[in-house]
Amino acid sequence: MARMSDCLFCKIIAGQVPASIVYQDETLVVIKDINPQAPLHVLIIPRTHIPTLNDLSPADDALVGTMFRRAAALAKESGYHERGYRTVFNTSREAGQSVFHIHLHLLAGRALTWPPG
Ligand code: AMP
Ligand code: ZN
Repeated sequence: MARMSDCLFCKIIAGQVPASIVYQDETLVVIKDINPQAPLHVLIIPRTHIPTLNDLSPADDALVGTMFRRAAALAKESGYHERGYRTVFNTSREAGQSVFHIHLHLLAGRALTWPPG
């Protein structure tokens, strides 16, 4: 599991690795996914390093709510709030988590199949 010092998303947040930032505030940074799976595919990333959902504590409840409300706001700004969009946290190996700093995927702009792969 990545430590903060070698965490890709901590480096992006610190400006040490370039990224296409679409939104940021004191709590969150939102970037375009480098390998987009839909016309809109962004990652909503907390500035705090939390490796997986398994590491959340009650103190993070507001943070997680803020992440989902930001997803809804970005979907609305992009005009996808009525067509539809998907929000996903991948957790650990079988879900394909590849960056161990929690991030909420926001996908929209095409018909998204169910069940997911
Ligand atoms: P996950 O598999 O849920 O951990 O998602 C990690 C996501 O980060 C993948 O969708 C990658 O395409 C994306 N990603 C990896 N490196 C970068 C990067 N440098 N900038 C933006 N997105 C990235
Ligand atoms: Zn991190």
